[in-house]
Amino acid sequence: MNGKIGLEEHFAIAETLQDSAGFVPGDYWKELSKRLMDIHEDRLRQMDENGMQMMLLSLNAPAVQAIPSPEKATEVARRANDYLAEQVAKRPDRFQAFAALAMQDPDGAARELERCVKELGFKGALVNGFSQLHTPENVVYYDAPQFEAFWGTVEALDVPFYLHPRNPIASWAQIYDGHPWLLGPTWAFGQETAVHALRLMASGLFDRHPRLKIVLGHMGEGLPYSIWRVDNRNAWVDVPKAYPAKKPLGTYFQNNFYLTTSGNFRTQTLIDALLEVGADRILFSTDWPFENVDHAAQWFDHAAISEADRLKIGRTNAEKLFKLTL
Ligand code: MN
Repeated sequence: MNGKIGLEEHFAIAETLQDSAGFVPGDYWKELSKRLMDIHEDRLRQMDENGMQMMLLSLNAPAVQAIPSPEKATEVARRANDYLAEQVAKRPDRFQAFAALAMQDPDGAARELERCVKELGFKGALVNGFSQLHTPENVVYYDAPQFEAFWGTVEALDVPFYLHPRNPIASWAQIYDGHPWLLGPTWAFGQETAVHALRLMASGLFDRHPRLKIVLGHMGEGLPYSIWRVDNRNAWVDVPKAYPAKKPLGTYFQNNFYLTTSGNFRTQTLIDALLEVGADRILFSTDWPFENVDHAAQWFDHAAISEADRLKIGRTNAEKLFKLTL
């Protein structure tokens, strides 16, 4: 299929490049680092060869979220956003942008998002999971009360917020001890991000801000498979729910969330997601440069779904969600 649009497509700046170094064996780092720093050469060639019209670009992970100093985090986010705006301006027909945000300072993050959307023309925010605040061991998730005004700004700007994975900090990751292969995209990314999404749902965030749009990658980080059980475990036991949200969490999953195919190129998994949230809420993505554009495209172009759904997922859902003018 030609004209595909991808939403989880990363780049790096010099300050954040090393954050991606651990995710491939040393022999591959030269290639991965080259891919991360490139915007207009190999990346565009990959897009041309695989029927991809546009990438919405975002900074690599964990980057800004792993800088405990709010001032420093703010400075790096701003620099990355300014650099990205310059790159997009060279080829706005092929690239658009997600803002990086220093969530360590919720009010500053709201102001930076406003600047990025209103002044730089960015289409939304992509944030890499929880943020470390003041010390590496102190983490904040975005269901905390200090983010209330931030979410109000996201809702008022009417732009999607992409909740992207990161690894748990080492002291919270005992379950992976002795099994470092489980960290990163293999397992820990999905587990971490799914729990964060469930926290947002259960907090009542979407009762207070019903127009918020949250995007999850990797076909929903396992949630399409698991969300029914979250709401229905021990259904014979008549006890009040133990969280503030007013509705079953699956209701928020169906109404406030969008899922992308990034890094999860599996038709069986796509069909499960289709059955849970429908074809209007699933969007094509690759997860370049950590995954290959050709792997994503060759799978998606031939996946056993209707052509109507392929067009929505590959392109038109993104056009609508991000109000793209192509
Ligand atoms: Mn990614």
